[in-house]
Amino acid sequence: MRHVELDPYAEVNWATATRCKANLHAHTTCSDGALSPAEVIDAYAARGYDALAITDHDTYGNDSGTGAATWPWSAHGRDPDELGMLAVRGTEFTGDPVSASIPHLTSWFHDLWRPEDPFTARNEDLDWILTTLDERGAASAWAHPTRGGELRVHGGAADWFVERHLRHAHLRGFEVYSGTGRRSPIDSSALYDRVLTLQRRRGVGVPLWANAADDSHAADEIGFDYHVHLVEERSTAALRDSLERGSYLVVQDPEGGRLERHLDDGDGFWTAAPAVTRLEVGRSAIRIDAERCARIEWISDGEVVHTGAALHLDAAGLGSYVRAVLHGDRGARTLTQPFLLAVPAP
Ligand SMILES: [Zn+2]
Ligand SMILES: [Zn+2]
Repeated sequence: MRHVELDPYAEVNWATATRCKANLHAHTTCSDGALSPAEVIDAYAARGYDALAITDHDTYGNDSGTGAATWPWSAHGRDPDELGMLAVRGTEFTGDPVSASIPHLTSWFHDLWRPEDPFTARNEDLDWILTTLDERGAASAWAHPTRGGELRVHGGAADWFVERHLRHAHLRGFEVYSGTGRRSPIDSSALYDRVLTLQRRRGVGVPLWANAADDSHAADEIGFDYHVHLVEERSTAALRDSLERGSYLVVQDPEGGRLERHLDDGDGFWTAAPAVTRLEVGRSAIRIDAERCARIEWISDGEVVHTGAALHLDAAGLGSYVRAVLHGDRGARTLTQPFLLAVPAP
């Protein structure tokens, strides 16, 4: 029988954990967004978000060569402490958007784009960007990995992502759902499963974690795709730790654009998407307790292998990992991160 080799939720104490609602990919007038940074911050605050990263294209910071400054929030008259939010410093590296010269990468917790950085000259040099982000202590995730133009550049092949993940330790995430509120939402889940399968074959110990983000550029694109980080305290350090360990759930809610969909349940504002209350990994099964959940599917090596709250580890079709998709009201879904599986040596 298979056993769980890596459980990303192993350190979560479900009795004491608090849930941190985060969107880590959003745009403002500092690049091609329609809302100012203050308006974007206020829109996420109104929907009960605990954490937000403004990730304008190839810019942030007061010292940015472009003069566009999304960091710190105080430059826009907003105090994260007063709002009860965590401000995450971020950017989206995009190269030349017309030629789609590099796949887009959202990146956090770093200061790349200082005046002394030769960034403008090297913004299409992905290897340099990734190496520099490694050195600067960043954490990053691939944004909308199956979007058309960029897919042509890197071929959309799983091994492209696996190779870079092997070389750059700060790569952590893969946006499975992007911009559900936008005109062309992007679902990269099929490629994500191919990446996970190949990573297992290559012996990668910690996979790229599933991410979801609004990639919002306008008021009606806010509130659809977000993370629920399971942390003991709402702090930037705890959020970062959760991003690295994979101790979070991913939500896609096609109705999330409606403000009234984000309801206060006494422990934060949550949309009607399924809420995981407990996740238990045993010797013979993985079991999920959830609210607002109609159906739980288990996906292994790209195939649905089981439906139900408990997955037995001797189920037919189980491969090298398994992840759960919880289906809820009006198309809303909540994803767990992948659990890595192994067969004990004889
Ligand atoms: Zn992008
Ligand atoms: Zn974006």
